[in-house]
Amino acid sequence: MEVRVRVAPSPTGFLHVGTARAALFNWLFARKHGGKFILRIEDTDRERSKEAFDQDIRDGLTWLGIEWDELYRQSERLGVYRDYLRKLLEEKKAFWCYHTKFQLESEREAQMKNKEAPRHICEHKLNPPEEKIGGIIRLNVMGKNRAEAVVFEDLIRGTVEFKRNTLGDFSIARDLDDPLYNFANVVDDHEMNINHIIRGEDHIPNTPKQILIAEALGFSIPFFAHLPLILGEDRSKLSKRHGATALSDYRQAGYLPEALINFIALLGWSPGGNKEIMTRSEMVSAFSLEGIQKGGAIFDLKKLRWMNSEYIKKMPPQGLIESLKPTAKDLFNDGGEILSKIIHLVQERIEAFSDLGEFHYFFREPEITPDLLIWKKSDAQGARKALTYIEAVLEDADNFEDEKLRNRLDAIAEKEFEGDRGAVYWPFRVALSGQKFSPDPVEMAVIFGNKKTRERVQRALTQLG
Ligand code: GLU
Repeated sequence: MEVRVRVAPSPTGFLHVGTARAALFNWLFARKHGGKFILRIEDTDRERSKEAFDQDIRDGLTWLGIEWDELYRQSERLGVYRDYLRKLLEEKKAFWCYHTKFQLESEREAQMKNKEAPRHICEHKLNPPEEKIGGIIRLNVMGKNRAEAVVFEDLIRGTVEFKRNTLGDFSIARDLDDPLYNFANVVDDHEMNINHIIRGEDHIPNTPKQILIAEALGFSIPFFAHLPLILGEDRSKLSKRHGATALSDYRQAGYLPEALINFIALLGWSPGGNKEIMTRSEMVSAFSLEGIQKGGAIFDLKKLRWMNSEYIKKMPPQGLIESLKPTAKDLFNDGGEILSKIIHLVQERIEAFSDLGEFHYFFREPEITPDLLIWKKSDAQGARKALTYIEAVLEDADNFEDEKLRNRLDAIAEKEFEGDRGAVYWPFRVALSGQKFSPDPVEMAVIFGNKKTRERVQRALTQLG
């Protein structure tokens, strides 16, 4: 049997990280077994589906490198669903229900009051009204086999069972040309020969309905594998409250697709062992549904940042410069000149491209808080003295070379500050960056060059007063 799997997003929002994970797991499963991965856009909800979201979903998957073998759109397949709906109506496995909204609502309220599952058990299936008066199509669930449970073996969660009574005669279409999600989904999985359904756990309640629809249509039932929920750090379902949930937000913040793919793969799947950084092909060969956990998977942003930094460190510096150029342009209007000079510092330190913002002092003059210039073991007097000595050293352009400059600064520390290097290096560093934490001042000075370095030291002196 050729493995055929799919991801079936509805284009009613931007590509969610949960959908990206479902896509990735299906893709890994297909690649592992030499099967096919299908992208099916479920756009039957005409009001909520938007072309922009359809585009965002395809762009996001392409950017992640999850390429599909076949692409379908449900809005282009209405004729297929119509034929199957007609068949079910003719065979009396489905029927028109003409209950009004009001009637259905009162029924629902009564059920809620009795603490029963809200559902509709419809008498129209037995004696339809004389005249067709507009209504919806329901599946005849509560007919003869009403006592039977609906059971399936989930490849991740084991046996799952539902009572038919809790489902009622659920609706499958608003009209012949307007199938509802569960119906179109089942028809397509059959028509597209999908044999493994790998998707989020939030779809478990839909599964018994889909099985009943498939049975009514005489389709074989595929395997199901429901992925654990993705949780925020407080262990509640991941939502915007926890931060970005749209893949495009991570893309914009400057995460690398390789890092995101790697991170997303580990949301609920473990290859076994301690290996965390994996290439795409390592993931393909290690992937198995057995490696997927039942319990929720926590979306740990710190881990994503760490992973991304690992991938950034591995990039060739020239490649990183090219990738960071748009960010440098956006943030500092730098065309890459300054960026190229500091790339080795940046590469070791950033976790996402947006972190480049922390290096603003290379691109423009920093604000300096005079108190910060004072070394913890010294005072304003000491800072002034150190900066004055440093200025004198900088006057000699010959000193502008890493080793030489370091030797000179060390000598000042030795002679004037009883060997306390912090007394010299700390105010120098703050004068150049204005920051509590920043790279080594000598490295920065060499990048800035003589003129800019002296200007900043002089400015710090003026601010100290
Ligand atoms: N259109 C559904 C969704 O976006 C697909 C569910 C499924 O994979 O069956 O959640």
